Amino acid sequence: MLIVIPKENQAGETRVAASPETVKKLIKQGHEVRVQSGAGFAAHWQDADYLAAGATISADTTSTYIDAALILKVQAPDTSEIELIPQNAALVCQFDIYRYPYLAALAAKQIDAYALELIPRITRGQSMDILSSQANIAGYRAVLLAVQYFPRFMPMFMTAAGSVKPARVLILGAGVAGLQAIATAKRLGAIVEVFDVRPATREQVESLGAKFIEVELNDEERAAFEHTGGYAKEMSADYRQRQSALIAQQAAQADIIITTALIPGKPAPVLIPASTVATMKSGSVIIDMAVRTGLNGGGNCPLSQANEVVISDNGITIVGNSNLPALMATDASSMFARNVLTFLGLVTNKEGQYAPQSDDEIVQATRVTHAGSIYFGEAATPPA
Ligand code: NAD
Repeated sequence: MLIVIPKENQAGETRVAASPETVKKLIKQGHEVRVQSGAGFAAHWQDADYLAAGATISADTTSTYIDAALILKVQAPDTSEIELIPQNAALVCQFDIYRYPYLAALAAKQIDAYALELIPRITRGQSMDILSSQANIAGYRAVLLAVQYFPRFMPMFMTAAGSVKPARVLILGAGVAGLQAIATAKRLGAIVEVFDVRPATREQVESLGAKFIEVELNDEERAAFEHTGGYAKEMSADYRQRQSALIAQQAAQADIIITTALIPGKPAPVLIPASTVATMKSGSVIIDMAVRTGLNGGGNCPLSQANEVVISDNGITIVGNSNLPALMATDASSMFARNVLTFLGLVTNKEGQYAPQSDDEIVQATRVTHAGSIYFGEAATPPA
């Protein structure tokens, strides 16, 4: 089967969906692989590296897609790319599925499209889970980005010019990104405090040496926090009010806040409203990892703007980088490519053909278009 790797065309995207390592393995499995010239350049892999792995190199986007049976991408295709995808091909990438507008165009071309971000967080899915591999990188990079804008030290110092207090870092959300952010901030010597709506995260937070802060729960709320698929649920207005008061109190003392709170398919919860930003100390930094997923394009802080650095009137730097993994293109691509390679085991057979295991839970969860139908969201049509 001919597998193609186009060069990503979205602004700021530096990753590539296959590495020389995974290309070599795909070829060993009996596939033919074509890589668009320059596809790995930003991740520091040259065309020669892919050639050495056994791929052929295509000169441009149009020639990359010709006769492709399976397309591997990081970002879902725009309309100009969909035009180039051959009828009946398969497509594996991340879609930003709750906002992606072109599923109907893919279905119209009878394309089998798989959205990797829908891989369920079950044990078997872990080695294919791009959300986890990329959030891990993003959580690490978020702390480094905060340090870049923070006008003070992170660790405590005793110097001849006086002592320096350690920075206080507040992390909101202790999922994959949050846990990596905690570990990174601790390594840099900060005092780390963490809030998550899921009480189950307390143990993980404390095992990383951070302090877990929590809202008191009644029995009903405790039961409601039992989560599905490893994700949080939306909470009641009363709970949210108690949560806001607690976060506002912690935010006023924090030097750095990293927000990672997410409920899949819902707008990011507002955790740091403008009124809380107004109480923070000048020079503090907010990294809003949920930027773009909030209402009006903000994230957990409504003042954040996608891919902008906003300075508030009281001197708080609010950073809204929506693609932190792209700042670490090599490792991010390596991990993404390995996730993809493992996933392909579910949609290809030993003879190197496209043969999706249609009754597999992961295949069913990720397949968003098939046989002319849309399988995701409001436009979903029942399978024929
Ligand atoms: P995750 O689902 O593993 O973790 C999210 C955590 O937020 C969960 O532990 C959940 O319980 C918690 N949460 C939900 N509502 C909350 C609330 N009201 N208060 C406190 N905690 C709450 O998700 P993840 O994979 O760690 O990703 C976290 C966020 O980072 C997402 O918004 C994701 O889109 C974003 N992300 C951004 C980048 C980037 O480059 N900016 C990259 C990767 C992920």
